[in-house]
Amino acid sequence: MKLGIWIFIGVVAWLWFNGTRKQQRRAQEKARADAAGAPSPGTAIERMVACAHCGLHVPASDAIVSGIGASFCSEAHRRLHPPA
Ligand SMILES: [Zn+2]
Repeated sequence: MKLGIWIFIGVVAWLWFNGTRKQQRRAQEKARADAAGAPSPGTAIERMVACAHCGLHVPASDAIVSGIGASFCSEAHRRLHPPA
């Protein structure tokens, strides 16, 4: 009977130790991914659009959109394309 108690304690200790190691490994992997600058799930990736004049790709939020819906990298390039 006493042996059964010791085996039970041993199994519980082993399970607890394994769980702790797994948690540590998961935390280390997460820290490494964050340090590498990997986008975490839920992070929006900004859409890129090409300038209608020179073809340069710029983030959609930085692009200058003309009246006809064309995107440009700069105000100078937008001016070179007057709205039709
Ligand atoms: Zn351009």
